[in-house]
Amino acid sequence: MRFFRVPYLIQSLFWNRKWTGKDPSSVYLTFDDGPDETVTPWLLEFLNKENIQATFFCIGSQVEKYPAIYKKMKQFGHMVGNHTYNHEKGSRTDNEEYLKSIKKTDDLMNTILFRPPYGRLTREQERQVTRMGKKTVMWTWNAHDYDRTIDEETIVKKAALIKGGDILLFHNSKKSAKLMMACLPKVIGIIKEKNLIFKTVA
Ligand SMILES: [Zn+2]
Repeated sequence: MRFFRVPYLIQSLFWNRKWTGKDPSSVYLTFDDGPDETVTPWLLEFLNKENIQATFFCIGSQVEKYPAIYKKMKQFGHMVGNHTYNHEKGSRTDNEEYLKSIKKTDDLMNTILFRPPYGRLTREQERQVTRMGKKTVMWTWNAHDYDRTIDEETIVKKAALIKGGDILLFHNSKKSAKLMMACLPKVIGIIKEKNLIFKTVA
């Protein structure tokens, strides 16, 4: 079963994570897994043209690889968040190693926002992340732009479900490039028709 909207039951199970934004008249675009050397520059230009600020959950090793693109992200007024150093899956990573990966990424960016890769982290990892003063940010609407079994039309159709307060999950990685670049302009058009404003996660 593929959910575009995250069921409320799942949100309530992990009640201490941030699922939605504060403003019910806004939506919060988020882009994971960057910076990438081709997709991210395209995305930054596009968002700039649309006058939209978003939140980028960056992988530490990618920030190290493309510091100029990361810098541009911040210059364009976007918010950044920690997405671990090597995109580790919490459930498959030793707690100490997981924390080290987050700290290593923290050394590269100044942020309290954290998004676990795959949305997965163990209870103990979550406890430690909270102790570090981090805010674990999830999403309420997932574009599934990394999924090669779905097409642009499906994503655009599911954008009808987007409502105020939603945190929207997209990616800026090679894997999701084609689908994200095709559907994002249309999804943004639908959001604008709903008279919702774009804000960054705080
Ligand atoms: Zn990711």
